[in-house]
Amino acid sequence: MIGLRAMMIPLAALAIGLALHALFGPVAAAGWLALALLAIAGLQAFRLARLHQWAALPRQRDLPQAYGAWGRMLDRIGRFARQEQQSRDELNEELGQLHAAVDQLPDGLTLIDRFDQIEWCNNAAAELHGIFATGRPVHHFVRQPEFVDYLDSGNFARPPVIALASRPGRLYELRLHAVGDGGKLLITRDVTEHAKLDSMRKDFVANVSHEIRTPVTVIGGFAETLLELELDEAARREYLAMILKQSQTMQRLVDDLLTLSSLENASAPAQEDDVDLHAMAQGLAEEARILSQGRHTIELRINNFPALRANTAQIESAIRNLLTNAVRYTPQGGRITIDWRIRDGFGELRVSDTGIGIAAEHLPRLAERFYRVDRGRSRETGGTGLGLAIVKHIMSQHGGQLRIESIPAQGSMFTLRFPGRRVLEAPPGSEHLRP
Ligand code: ADP
Repeated sequence: MIGLRAMMIPLAALAIGLALHALFGPVAAAGWLALALLAIAGLQAFRLARLHQWAALPRQRDLPQAYGAWGRMLDRIGRFARQEQQSRDELNEELGQLHAAVDQLPDGLTLIDRFDQIEWCNNAAAELHGIFATGRPVHHFVRQPEFVDYLDSGNFARPPVIALASRPGRLYELRLHAVGDGGKLLITRDVTEHAKLDSMRKDFVANVSHEIRTPVTVIGGFAETLLELELDEAARREYLAMILKQSQTMQRLVDDLLTLSSLENASAPAQEDDVDLHAMAQGLAEEARILSQGRHTIELRINNFPALRANTAQIESAIRNLLTNAVRYTPQGGRITIDWRIRDGFGELRVSDTGIGIAAEHLPRLAERFYRVDRGRSRETGGTGLGLAIVKHIMSQHGGQLRIESIPAQGSMFTLRFPGRRVLEAPPGSEHLRP
């Protein structure tokens, strides 16, 4: 159709040429045809030039206008250009959403080309590695030798875990994935907690093995001696007593480990009772007196202990641990006190002693598993190094806290701090704590 219409003007010029030939002869006809051809060719060249000009920068210029066949063809080109622009806009919008989502990720993502130059990165990667421009080699920003070796090795199975200057105290895994034709995606992930747990697990296994090795060696040694040597009755009894003592130490360790493990497997006490704190403290003070064998003065300072909404066995175990420690770490003649008070809406049960005390630098770590100030003294007195860890777990299950204050050579105070909602009968003057 367009082809036919485009031929109209040349055909009309030809018809006029033929008419001129009939009227004025061949010279006039040839002159006309030459002029007409020149005009047509000039017009086409002009339109082509304008189209060419537009095609060079189609998004910045308007499509040229024309009539007739050119007009219709330009309309079609215009429609096509608009559709193409629309799909490009949609694509850009989707890409923008994708970038925004990727920028929200806590992991750093960095796209690296086959020449190890950075093509793109998200916000997290820019902040973690200080990437301020793309098109530069990745090792300009990630300089750690472990990463450079990993990148060069081409084997990405074992990503390095390294510290970054931008985040002191934290550890990051830098994992590469091959993408496309020689490109790589670098994922930078915070693995601090994971690494901490891993090292805690290793420490724990090492500690337990160490704790068990000593009694097992002693038991083995004495048993061998008993088998091999002819001993008199007194020596035999002495060796058997040593074996019994070591096996009791192991028993305590196993019991404490099981207690800790069951505490760690639950976030709240399985059962809650109305604990009569007064009766409990009296009974435990009596136990402590037996343990002390008259070497200490042990007193209950307050008579009106409240009832506590808590797990009886756990609270008893926590207070027993504190009292046992007070007896073990207080020299003869010392005083051990148990008291109760309401402070800032919390109920506080305190066990204080006039014992050897603890230097300030040990206080933050005292409730860690197997942490001891004086390993020898702890072992001598039958300690497992787990007592305070158990107390801390019990308190956290009850939504409370274990607080420790101490002055070396003067004494210590261990406070079990319970949230007010657990205190069922408050002493006079603390009515707000009543449920
Ligand atoms: P252990 O079985 O070694 O006593 P704990 O977890 O009960 O383990 O206590 C950890 C460490 O805290 C002890 O080894 C000891 O050094 C210190 N400690 C605990 N209670 C007292 C206290 N009343 N006075 C001085 N030091 C204490």
